[in-house]
Amino acid sequence: MIKFEEAYRIVSEAGIKLSTEKVLLNNSLGCVLAEDVKSDMNMPPFDKSAMDGYACKEADMANELEVVEVIPAGKIPEKTIGKNQCAKIMTGAMIPEGADCVIMVEHTEETGNNKIRYTKIIPEINVCEVESENKPNVNICYLGEDIETGNVVLEKGTLIKAQHIATMASVGSIEPLVYRKPKVAVIPTGDEIVEPHIKPNISQIRNSNGAQIVAQLKAMGIEANYFGIARDTENVTMDLIQKAYEENDVVLLTGGVSMGDFDLVPEILKSLKFELLFESIAVQPGKPTVFGKRGDKFCFGLPGNPVSSFVQFELLTKPLLYLLMGQKYKPFNFKLPLGKDYRRRKAERLSWVPAIFTQEGTVVPVEYHGSAHINGLGPADGIMAVPIGVTELKEGELINVRQI
Ligand code: AMP
Ligand code: MG
Repeated sequence: MIKFEEAYRIVSEAGIKLSTEKVLLNNSLGCVLAEDVKSDMNMPPFDKSAMDGYACKEADMANELEVVEVIPAGKIPEKTIGKNQCAKIMTGAMIPEGADCVIMVEHTEETGNNKIRYTKIIPEINVCEVESENKPNVNICYLGEDIETGNVVLEKGTLIKAQHIATMASVGSIEPLVYRKPKVAVIPTGDEIVEPHIKPNISQIRNSNGAQIVAQLKAMGIEANYFGIARDTENVTMDLIQKAYEENDVVLLTGGVSMGDFDLVPEILKSLKFELLFESIAVQPGKPTVFGKRGDKFCFGLPGNPVSSFVQFELLTKPLLYLLMGQKYKPFNFKLPLGKDYRRRKAERLSWVPAIFTQEGTVVPVEYHGSAHINGLGPADGIMAVPIGVTELKEGELINVRQI
């Protein structure tokens, strides 16, 4: 049995990045960039109004101003702003020549004869109110102030989220180069499990791991290749794993990894020439977690109990998959104070306990009967770590939590 940190290190050092491919921008969500994305233009590409209002000379702000033009967004201004003149301007429109500030429309009034007046003048000293002494509130976004042509806007290794897609769209990166997503086979094992649409007989249960892992992969943007249930018969399971290995980069099995007479998975993997890098980890739930490698392909034998399988996928499978996709995975880990005392009897394993993050900013374990408690994870926002050797934690103690 090895410690979690060691298992994590083995997984993190195992992977090689998959090949790269170009994908359409709209299909790139959840992929990892395989090259830096550079901008092909300045952003903003011109001095741009940040407000709906009137573009004028700052020096004239206290005066009545003649409106010489209306400038909608997208239009090139035709007039140059002279003394005591202004142009009505919309948010996103080009600042006309001669103007150096924009007065917000809310701070103006029309005085007739196509003229306007700034209404936020401080009466006693008859000057315009400005937001800061050093930098008057000019309401202009200047050419290139966000991005200059050639700037790297997204770095290689970025896991693409919706906000990154916006950046790529704005710089014309319509076919980003990304790492290929891994092909992942899912094979639940067990003689007692039946697919969810079947009513189990008295000695059976439904296969919940299959759908759960397919969903965990989907949440990462990976379409699983579901191979169906492998029965606890050596030949059948062996043939299925071999086929899955040939057609995929990673094979995920559940069940058949504990100490029972019919827990055949580790031996089958070995006879299929997988080198097992670990077979047991000091983590609860999920002690019998198996990780193997054959050539540049990988397999996980995840535990049969659904909570264990879920947690071990989060802790170990996910980092491997992201590594193959070109990214060093950063789980959303942070510390929260414990909302109430916690006790456990044994302390030889690192425990990850399903928990709720409360509105008060504390973490509280959910009611949880162990790794077979199928709906134990349901109300949990995350899992909290109880380190090896610790049997008691007091309310208010800061502990590591991870969002799930
Ligand atoms: P095993 O490691 O195969 O002995 O499985 C451990 C426990 O998990 C047993 O109680 C199994 O019935 C249960 N289990 C195994 N596979 C699944 C599955 N796909 N869905 C739900 N429970 C399962
Ligand atoms: Mg089994």
